[in-house]
Amino acid sequence: MAKRGRLFVISGPAGAGKSEIVKKLLRKHPDVKLSVSCTTRAPRPGEVDGVSYHFVTEARFEELIAENAFYEWAHVHQNRYGTLKSVVKQELDAGHDLVLEIDVQGCLQAMAQDPSVTGIFVCPPSRENLEKRLRDRGTETEESIRVRLNNVAGEVAQAYKYHYIIIHNDWSEVPDALDIAADEVYAIITARRLELDSRRDFLDHLSATLRG
Ligand code: 5GP
Repeated sequence: MAKRGRLFVISGPAGAGKSEIVKKLLRKHPDVKLSVSCTTRAPRPGEVDGVSYHFVTEARFEELIAENAFYEWAHVHQNRYGTLKSVVKQELDAGHDLVLEIDVQGCLQAMAQDPSVTGIFVCPPSRENLEKRLRDRGTETEESIRVRLNNVAGEVAQAYKYHYIIIHNDWSEVPDALDIAADEVYAIITARRLELDSRRDFLDHLSATLRG
């Protein structure tokens, strides 16, 4: 039977740059897959249904909860977001390593329900930097920036529950910051692929053939 893939959850404060890191990771390493979530929030300019998210109505989201279709879901900033069980199952069964780029509540749910899930927390280098990144995005209102910054202290307090911490430096200070962060995430994925449990079948086979 083919080896199952591994699940990686990536989270961190809004504006810490986790989507950029994940995009860079996928571009450099097409062997890593990303789960497309469902959300009740409206698409932003340039977002494509089925690619950025599956954009669904509140009613449809309710139905999916009732059908027990979500691997995890959470309320984030007045909207709801969820990862479909079917997507996780399909990718892991196909042997793909799968990344979920989700909020802290979702990551904690995923890590609690499956100890083999690897939690990666992306941190900004400082509060000042985080605030600047949120403003530079240009997609957030002052009100939403205020709400998001208010949530950050609580989110960072949860970072102690993750397995790995990535510090996403500012490109103006570290020009390769994005590449470095994406490479660090891939290093984590690689390390998990090289663990004894992932290599056990190979070792069994090698041992058997050596014994002749
Ligand atoms: P945005 O609206 O900026 O795309 O995302 C807002 C937050 O929702 C981000 O922290 C993002 O990681 C999170 N998010 C996106 N998809 C999911 C999901 O399926 N589940 C959970 N729990 N959070 C998600």
